[in-house]
Amino acid sequence: MRCLFCSGTMKDTREDHQFPLSALEDVTVVDAKMRRCQSCDEYEVHYPRMLDLERALALTVAAKQGPLAPSEVRYLRRTVDSEGTELPKVLQVAPDVLARWEAGEAVMTFEQELALRLMAFNHERGPRFPLEKLARFPEGSREPLKLWLKFGPDRRWHVVPPPVKRSGSAPRRRAEGRKRGLHAA
Ligand SMILES: [Zn+2]
Repeated sequence: MRCLFCSGTMKDTREDHQFPLSALEDVTVVDAKMRRCQSCDEYEVHYPRMLDLERALALTVAAKQGPLAPSEVRYLRRTVDSEGTELPKVLQVAPDVLARWEAGEAVMTFEQELALRLMAFNHERGPRFPLEKLARFPEGSREPLKLWLKFGPDRRWHVVPPPVKRSGSAPRRRAEGRKRGLHAA
């Protein structure tokens, strides 16, 4: 393989390499797979599975022991809200407040930072935190949620819609259900 710039020989090498593609300031890839030109300064770096790499970064930053740096606030915000429009609504601050956090001109409260960390963590682990829905939930009485759970054929628990009420003697059907359940167990 020849260098695209000077036609010198490119040699395979492994080096620790400062990761330039992340919004984070100081990330080093250890033993990065590289090709380095033997004649000029040109080099190539191979980054496999970029999404997985970004995920590892986000989970680590979200669980950081200590306050977030402005660049880390920006990094986590991008994982949950690429545009930066929904997060200010959820945290109930003006968009320019978010910009000031990310520029290091203002500091988040503990609760705001905790919310951002949890959203980022949750985002990387599974289904997306419903930012839009929770931006402002309606006022109302503090009734507990009424939930129906079902163990699915995928052997996982699912929150399901309430069962449709059927006519007939519901109590007897419930009793039969219990009996069948017992036999199945
Ligand atoms: Zn070269």
